[in-house]
Parts: sequence; C-alpha cells; structure tokens
Amino acid sequence: MSLADKILASGVVGAGGAGFPSHIKAKSTPEFILANGAECEPLIHKDYELMVNYGEEIVAGLNLLAEELQVSKSFFGIKKKNTKAVDSINKHLNSVNTSLTLLGDYYPSGDEYELVYAATGRLIPPAGIPLDVGCVVNNVETLYNIYLADQDIPVTEKFVSVVGAVKNPSSFFAPVGITFRELVDFAGGATVNDFGLFVGGVMMGMLSFDLEDVVTKTTAGIIVLPKEHYLIKRKNQPEQNWHRIGKSACDQCSYCTELCPRYLLGYEVEPHKVMRSLGFTKTGGSVWNQMAELCCSCGLCTLYSCPEDLYPKEACDKAKVEMKSEGIKFIQQKPVKVHPIKDGRRVPLKQLIQKLLLKDYDVPAPFRYERMNPDSVKILLKQHIGEISNPLVIEGNYVEKGQLIAEVPERKLGSNIHSSISGIVEKVNKDYIKIVS
Ligand code: SF4
Ligand code: SF4
Repeated sequence: MSLADKILASGVVGAGGAGFPSHIKAKSTPEFILANGAECEPLIHKDYELMVNYGEEIVAGLNLLAEELQVSKSFFGIKKKNTKAVDSINKHLNSVNTSLTLLGDYYPSGDEYELVYAATGRLIPPAGIPLDVGCVVNNVETLYNIYLADQDIPVTEKFVSVVGAVKNPSSFFAPVGITFRELVDFAGGATVNDFGLFVGGVMMGMLSFDLEDVVTKTTAGIIVLPKEHYLIKRKNQPEQNWHRIGKSACDQCSYCTELCPRYLLGYEVEPHKVMRSLGFTKTGGSVWNQMAELCCSCGLCTLYSCPEDLYPKEACDKAKVEMKSEGIKFIQQKPVKVHPIKDGRRVPLKQLIQKLLLKDYDVPAPFRYERMNPDSVKILLKQHIGEISNPLVIEGNYVEKGQLIAEVPERKLGSNIHSSISGIVEKVNKDYIKIVS
C-alpha cells in the first residue's frame, strides 16, 4: 500500500483546522513540503506541546511524506521564541534537505500564505493554493497522524488545548466525538458559572454555548471565557447589528486595510472598501466590493485594527458567501508585490493578547499524558472538507476502537471515519454515529 493509500485508509485530514483530506496532498507533485508549527491563535498551545513531546514522530511523518513525494527540500516553520519545541524538532532533523524556518511571534504567522513566503520567498497567486508555487503545507499534528497512518493506526483522537477560565489549562489527547462538557471537566472545570466557549480560537474559531457539541478531527481546542468578557459580547452580536453599525459608524479611516496581513503581502484586499458596500440599500453578491474574496478571515481587522470596534472581517465573510452563491469571482489585476512596510506593521501576539483582554489567561497549557475514558461518543459524519461519509454500521453493532465505521463515498473527496472507543452503536443517522461503551 502506498503512503497516500494508508493516509486515506486511516482517515487523516488537516488537523490545523481546515480538515482537507491529507491523502490528496500525498498524491501531489510539489517541489517543497512545509511543516506548519507556527501556531498563532492566542492562548492555544497544542502544536507547541505536541512538538515538545512528540518531535520524533512529527519529523518521521514529515520525512515519510518527503520520501513519498520525492521533494527537493522540506521546511519546518516554528516560532523562534518556542525554544523547547525548536530543540525537540531540531534533535530529529537529521536530513540535510530539511531546514528550520524560524518565525517571529506575530499574528497570523501560521497562515499558509505567510508561511510559504517566509520559508521559500514565493507568493501564492491570488485565491491560489500553496501547490500553485510548488509547496505542500501540513500542520504538525497532521504529520504526527501520517506517522501513525504509516503503521496502520487510524485517527481516533484529537490533540487539544483547553484554556481560559478553567482550573487546569492543559493540552491532551481527546477521543473524537467527546463533548465539550467532558473537555472542560477534564481541565478541572470552569472557574466561572456563566461562560461561553471559543472553539478553535478567538480569532478564527467559533463561539459556542453548547457544552454538548463534540470534538472533531479539526478541533484545535477550546477557550473558556466568562459570559461578560469583551470578546463574547463582541462576537455574540446578532449579524444584522454588525452591518447596521458598520453602515453608520465606519469613517473610512482604512486602519483595517493598513494592518491587513493579506494586503501587506501584496494581495488586493482592502476591507475598508468592502465596508463601503454596506451603504447600499440593495443586497446580493453584486453590491459587494469583490476584493473581499482574497480575505483569509484572520479576524485582525475586526478584533485589533478597527478603532470603532466594527466588523470588517464579518463584512468580508458575508460578501464571500453572497458572491459565491452568485458565481462572482474576483480576479486580481495587479501583480502580487509585498508592501515595503510589511515588517513594520506586523502585529505582535503579546500586543494582540493585551488588546483582546486575554492577558490574565495567557498561561502555559502543559501536556497531560492521561487519556480520557468516555462512556459514549457522538462521531460526526462530516468532519472534513468534501462529502459526508457513508456509515458502515447499524444500530446494535459492536465496534472496536479504531474500527472503520464510515467511509468516503466512491470517487469523491472525503475521509474515512473510525470509532474512538469500543462499544455498541446506539444511534446512526445522517449526521452522526453514537457509540456507547
Ligand atoms: S478600521 Fe473600522 S472605521 Fe476604519 S475603515 Fe476599517 S471598518 Fe471603517
Ligand atoms: S479578516 Fe480582515 S485583516 Fe484578516 S485578511 Fe480579512 S480583511 Fe484582512
């Protein structure tokens, strides 16, 4: 079996958040492979902890892929300040064809466009993918899962950080399908009565108040914050308020554009111009400034740059959805050219954390070896980019941990799904499989 087939069989998808099926990347023909250990979401330290504790396995995954794809060079992107992780990875980088790309402590250094540029000096074409410039990028946890897949061990766990208002902020392996309630309990419980959860991060993640939501193969972690925290109030505004307030209060100062990482990298995305579109009384894809398409939804404009606390990122998100539904595509005319002042305008993570009022929660999330032992799991059939997986089990079946329970529809993009515990299948429907131990 080729490595790509093993990755497909084991259900490996991008663990950094996107969930792109990894076997597709393992069949491509890049010139370079990049390991992404840049981790820049405030407070989340799961990649750091994984690199410190599983450096050998991550590098082995990178080397397996490099060998399979016969690349000329690999790069390992990692923040210079994370010296323990740098040492752990460096110890195992014995190939002359792999070099460390040491990154500054800025947001968003983990963005693929940023990482590819930092490592190779290449600029991905507007709306393109790393492969357009000969690169394949994999998150470090994905590489760890590729190492396991090579030994026919499927993905049944997700490495997560549980941080914020919890007694023991920590990072650990959680069975796929476990509830957020169990994650919070495993981290010692919340330190406040009323709280919300940022799933995947405060900048690019989702706000949830549902403790029964479950961990998927892309859950990077959860940040527990008191309900009265600035970020929860800010994120919990109804959508119509984002746009109503923006329409009347945006003074076109353009700070959102001047600090936009994609704009500074040379892409034609100017969120202040997207905000102008809110002034139209008409709705639909055609009223939006089409530059929104090149926004990567990093959230910096909304949560850091805008002095009026407006929502330019959300305006870009809405524009993208409406333009897509009407088949409108933006084509950048100008060549991509890095802004001469890019370096001077990067946002230090520490400054971002201060602005987001998260300084009190900015603590380590050390690795815990103990595994969780849930009574049941609810495993979603869509945890990845592509088609929903087809269940292979019926109610009443007994399944072993690691058993294939749902598979990619034939000749479609998707991912296999395995049971994360041994037990009886209690429920199967179009969305999930519930297993009780
Ligand atoms: S920073 Fe805020 S006020 Fe200034 S142009 Fe952007 S959205 Fe408008
Ligand atoms: S979210 Fe805002 S800052 Fe980030 S890429 Fe989009 S427009 Fe630029």
